[in-house]
Amino acid sequence: MKVLKFGGTSVGSAHSLNHVKEIVAACPQQVIVVVSALGGVTNQLIEMTRMAQAHDSNYEAMLQQVKIRHHDLIGQMVPEQRQHECRQVIDTFIDEGLASFYSLLYANDELAPDFIDRLSDAIVCHGEIMSSAIVTAMIDDAVPHFSPNFIKTMDTVTQRVLDAETTERLIREEFEHRTERVHVAQGFIAADVETGEKTNLGRGGSDFTAALIAAALDAECLEIWTDVDGFMTADPRTDPTATVIPSMTYAEAQRMCDAGAKVIYPPTIAPVALKHIPVWVKNTFNPTAPGTVIEDD
Ligand code: ADP
Ligand code: ASP
Ligand code: MG
Repeated sequence: MKVLKFGGTSVGSAHSLNHVKEIVAACPQQVIVVVSALGGVTNQLIEMTRMAQAHDSNYEAMLQQVKIRHHDLIGQMVPEQRQHECRQVIDTFIDEGLASFYSLLYANDELAPDFIDRLSDAIVCHGEIMSSAIVTAMIDDAVPHFSPNFIKTMDTVTQRVLDAETTERLIREEFEHRTERVHVAQGFIAADVETGEKTNLGRGGSDFTAALIAAALDAECLEIWTDVDGFMTADPRTDPTATVIPSMTYAEAQRMCDAGAKVIYPPTIAPVALKHIPVWVKNTFNPTAPGTVIEDD
């Protein structure tokens, strides 16, 4: 079994989703597909929160754009017989969920800061919930999973952290003994272990979700599918001389992630390193490129 994580650009267009379909179809073994929100959507959800709080009604137009983008992808990617249901799912999340959350923020000046924080968390998880609905509907016989059921966070006095023990146990319960070939789960999103309220693993956290699943299930490997040919010597956006590093140790990858290499969210490395699970960084748009493997010395 392997875990494949597809980032925002990888699920952001029909072009990229066609690659996702092919990559998943090419795996002979069981796969757990972990998806981010469509590229840019998490930023839009956060921006709309800000706009609604500032009584800027333009958030409504942005919400419609988000809806149209998801509908367009359904039209292009989801088989005809599943399109209607998939559109209805998206409409419910947007017209009932998000629209009511934003109008609450828009109409009220006196909301308690803690309530606003919880509302913002409930809002931001919709990106992955909607993208995963499309990816599940796009792949025949894919089994949907809901990550807040098994990725659990807890609050310490100063910060929110992963409840690693509960998460590992729940991931096993969720996926062990499943025989279906393709499973789809949301990256990034989680739930508070006590209250069940939606939380998340922090910006860029979908990589971490995938690593937690891979580690708990002793996957044969974790594949991080993104928009560059591998882990590179520098960010190719700012350094055109950057080249792909064919292989790295966990320690080398951890050092570069800690130093700001955005290609992998820093907490991702530890769970898979502990289990000696190789991590591949691969390009969704260029799947035959060798990519980077991160493993023991
Ligand atoms: P995803 O949405 O797939 O998670 P991210 O935007 O989080 O993608 O990460 C991929 C981006 O990370 C690349 O487009 C690249 O600009 C940036 N990046 C920064 N440092 C590196 C690096 N050392 N190697 C590769 N990519 C890097
Ligand atoms: N969608 C989330 C973000 O933009 C998580 C992720 O992409 O990994 O931060
Ligand atoms: Mg990322």
